[in-house]
Amino acid sequence: MLDLRLGEVKKEIRKRNAHTIIVQVPEGLKPRLTRIISELSKTGAEVFAAMDPCFGACDLPLDKMNALSADLLVHFGHAPIHRPKNVIYVPVYDKIPKKNLNTLITKATAVLREKKIDRIALCTHSQFIYLLESVQKKFEEKGFKVLIGEASPRIAFKGQVLGCNYTAVTSVAYKIDAAIYIGEGHFHPLGLALSVNKPVFFLDTSTQTVKDFSNELDRYKRKRFAAIALAKNCKNFGILVSTKTGQRYKQVALHCKKMLEEAGKNAFLLSMDLVKEDYMAGVNVDCFVNTACTRIVGDDAQHWKKPIINPLEVEIVIGKREWEDFAFDVLY
Ligand code: SF4
Repeated sequence: MLDLRLGEVKKEIRKRNAHTIIVQVPEGLKPRLTRIISELSKTGAEVFAAMDPCFGACDLPLDKMNALSADLLVHFGHAPIHRPKNVIYVPVYDKIPKKNLNTLITKATAVLREKKIDRIALCTHSQFIYLLESVQKKFEEKGFKVLIGEASPRIAFKGQVLGCNYTAVTSVAYKIDAAIYIGEGHFHPLGLALSVNKPVFFLDTSTQTVKDFSNELDRYKRKRFAAIALAKNCKNFGILVSTKTGQRYKQVALHCKKMLEEAGKNAFLLSMDLVKEDYMAGVNVDCFVNTACTRIVGDDAQHWKKPIINPLEVEIVIGKREWEDFAFDVLY
């Protein structure tokens, strides 16, 4: 059951005396968009919805605000990455029935005890961040030592992770036997397994099952190594530079260009908002380097007709990093 807090949002709009608003929702909330627009319009403001796909708070439509002379952006469903004054973030929590949560903790306890794990770090996505303290308490009552780590400035809450940033766990990795992700979907537990050199367990709130994610890494790494092997034989590289607010890494792109050129390759800077394979049709390069969302090279990469690699993978391509030092590109 999702609570969109529209009453609180309306109060804030009135308080700020906003006349033109842009509403931005994740893809999963688009079925509720017309209801949100109708409700917020009751404040008397003109309400526009940003319809470009939004996958995170890394993608604030500040240019669109400018174009429409909007004085406020209402962003639903993600915790802040940046904090411009004219943006309201509305958390959207996925509430889990107490009974289901207890079942999940009981199952996880059995798995962890069997593996002789005593010290764990807990993390989750912003949608479930409200759960962390109570889950910590429940595990502590069962005798576990539980850490919820501080993260880098890109992250709003202790214990929160993003698909591109698991510093809430890596910051305490030296003190734990295993990392636990509680929430939904394989996207975040896979990123966690890529980021932390410890066993990773996924506590799935939708099915109340516990999955050991350590083995998922092999499949992912095999795909990445195949892309890197192809890239090694390429001469012309297109370096993708996103202009999205939280995926804009111009300096990383320039660094990749320099590394490739020093290795005798040609490199071209290609800028866009959303990084999408369709936009690359006809571009005369053999390989792409992605400096935007780290996870574009994940499952999405199978749709790309040419290899696409991340910046740390460029280092392997040019021989500056060993294959065994393969690492996840963190966005800070
Ligand atoms: S960069 Fe990618 S993983 Fe990171 S917040 Fe944005 S969409 Fe999510």
